[in-house]
Amino acid sequence: MDNFLKFIIALWAVFFLFFIYQIFSYIKFKLYLKSLQNKPCICKKYLEKLQDYKKLPIHIKNILEFKIKRFIREKKFIPKYMQINDEIKCIIAFYACLPTIAYKNFCYPSLKYIYIYPHTIIKEHTNQNGIIKKEMLISGESIGEAVIIAWDEVKREIYHYKKRNVIIHEFAHELDFEEGIIDGIPIFAIKDYEHFKKIFNETFQKATKDRILDEYAFSNKAEFFAVSTEYFFLKPQTLKTHYPKLFEEYIKIFKFNPLKMTNIA
Ligand SMILES: [Zn+2]
Repeated sequence: MDNFLKFIIALWAVFFLFFIYQIFSYIKFKLYLKSLQNKPCICKKYLEKLQDYKKLPIHIKNILEFKIKRFIREKKFIPKYMQINDEIKCIIAFYACLPTIAYKNFCYPSLKYIYIYPHTIIKEHTNQNGIIKKEMLISGESIGEAVIIAWDEVKREIYHYKKRNVIIHEFAHELDFEEGIIDGIPIFAIKDYEHFKKIFNETFQKATKDRILDEYAFSNKAEFFAVSTEYFFLKPQTLKTHYPKLFEEYIKIFKFNPLKMTNIA
């Protein structure tokens, strides 16, 4: 047998093994999802305390229940200077999964860790010489494989029905990150990228002049996407009234209409 034939046989063997591996991985993944489906959800009693959960129709709650179970199972929660309990995990998982409601198998593939701090975090910005230039108070941060959340800020927002929500905000950044560039265009907009980008950029220009949304939205386009996503899920009428084109785009990319509570997937 000449060397070329040996090479072709070896190549086919590699392809075949890879194909078998893919099939096994797929079956394993499906069995894993099925096993999750049958497991009870520990979160219901905690989520029933939240207005944002209570207002959801039962079919949306059911979809979220499955996604929350998967999220809690797959992501590593790391408390810093505090104790963590199931309630904290459930609330973070709920708001993290809400924007992905129509994407049944989406579970933030790049995200591995969630760091939870008891209070707002002081972040230091240093210059090139390592000298601290300024200190900032942050209630959360998203850095691709990790999200940081300040728990006191979450409690203020979710139990007192403020218009902002740091969990939705940081996970909107994660959706932006999953697309590859931090520019305000989330992974869900990738199919109709140019059209979404046009409407998004036009709205950003208009909103920067109007100053109707929270000031933080105007820091840059990534922050505008994160803040407007908070509005879409928590104050949808405000977003629809002032920026109807962007609102329609968000219905398309999130495949969910928060005013009608319908999932259009
Ligand atoms: Zn942000």
